[in-house]
Amino acid sequence: MATPELRIYESLSQSLKPFQPLVEGHVGMYVCGPTVYSDVHLGNVRTFLSFDMVFRYLSFIGYKVRYVRNITDAGHLVDDVDHGEDKIAKKARLESLEPMEIVQRYTVGFHEVMKSFNALPPSIEPTATGHVIEQIALTEQLISNGFAYEVDGSVYFDVTAYEKIHNYGELSGRKAEDMLEGSRNLAGQSDKRNPRDFALWKRAGKEHIMRWQSPWGEGFPGWHLECSVMSTKYLGETFDIHGGGMDLKFPHHECEIAQNKGSHGHAGAQFWMHANMLTLNGQRMSKSTGNTLLPEELLSGKSAHLTQPYSPSVTRFFIHQAHYRSVLDFSDEALNAAKKGHDRLMAAFESLSKRPTTGPKVGSFDTDAWSNKAHAVMAKDFNSPLLIAELFEAVKAIAADRKDPSVLGTDGAQSLMTQMSDWLFHVLGLMPPQQVNDRMKKALDGSMKLVISLRQTARETKDWATSDAIRDQLDAAGIIIKDGSEGSSYELK
Ligand SMILES: [Zn+2]
Repeated sequence: MATPELRIYESLSQSLKPFQPLVEGHVGMYVCGPTVYSDVHLGNVRTFLSFDMVFRYLSFIGYKVRYVRNITDAGHLVDDVDHGEDKIAKKARLESLEPMEIVQRYTVGFHEVMKSFNALPPSIEPTATGHVIEQIALTEQLISNGFAYEVDGSVYFDVTAYEKIHNYGELSGRKAEDMLEGSRNLAGQSDKRNPRDFALWKRAGKEHIMRWQSPWGEGFPGWHLECSVMSTKYLGETFDIHGGGMDLKFPHHECEIAQNKGSHGHAGAQFWMHANMLTLNGQRMSKSTGNTLLPEELLSGKSAHLTQPYSPSVTRFFIHQAHYRSVLDFSDEALNAAKKGHDRLMAAFESLSKRPTTGPKVGSFDTDAWSNKAHAVMAKDFNSPLLIAELFEAVKAIAADRKDPSVLGTDGAQSLMTQMSDWLFHVLGLMPPQQVNDRMKKALDGSMKLVISLRQTARETKDWATSDAIRDQLDAAGIIIKDGSEGSSYELK
């Protein structure tokens, strides 16, 4: 079938726009990656899994995707209040570690978490510290274009000059007065000309560990600069998709757009996409109130908020059950419901793979129509909850087919199995139950070998009581022992 036209909700125009890549057959996608000064939190995991699904889907429908996701390992200013102290440098001093040691530790941790959730690695994962030369060059370009100025070794973006030509606030929709909120009390504390101006380059104080030579003296880049530089370097001045969490709209993406337009005249991406936030038990996650859940707590179940652990596959299923632009509320109850749905879906898929090849070739269930619906919902802004609803329609057909093999037919069953496998494992990134089953089977085989040899010893010593007790208790547990001429074997009832 022909894949339906993809439409994506674009944050700048706030509308659903038909997706046409700049270069036919190729997609350039940039997603703002983590700041590696602490463990990745569940909100980040949701954002990255949302874009992992987008990456998987675009590849699935035939695009060759270059997916760039950066690592912010320098330059992320805490805020203006602490005079531009670099988050990574601050943490390094607190723990008496080299900044790059912190960066290494949390980068490795981030990769482990993403791998455990079956997220595909991006095509390129550039770092801010690896692109300081380019960041200095972009700052010089902005100064020469009249959109930046230097004060005492620091360089700021000049929002007032920018606004004479462009619209600062076009992405977030914030008005000038709103952007001043929170900055007002800082008047006099900063060397900026205007509180709305933002740092491109900051002079490094004596105590500052991460520092680089620049035309303005030793310093470090502002946070927003790296994403403009790295997206342009690897994807071009204009590219297809720029993604990130909703919380990055302002100031980060607003500043990126200003830097892009100020340097080369384009916003950068054709499509700005934002994944929504998550809450826990209906409330914002916050360390101070204890309303938090870490990815590893979710997987181990070791959290006061949970009654059991949830597997990465169940977590992914739960996340994709909500649309990426909706707020997602984590709760034990909702996760538990997702687990039941996930397991039902996997069991149906597994039963399909074991379906006897009986009955007619063509069944009454229209797999082509089903396939068209599944493609259509995903083509409308990656609507994974509706895709999951379609997968449950297939589950119903599989259940009906078990009683009457003319529902699917042999060809229909084969086609449905291939398609379900694509959606479940390639696009949604769930993990095949077979992987889990193989491990369980290996463990069961090993332990049954032991039990059978113990029973054999009992039989050889004519200890019929023990031998019978083993057989009866296994029978009660659903395992049948079969005694044959070549020894004993087992079978599940
Ligand atoms: Zn970014």
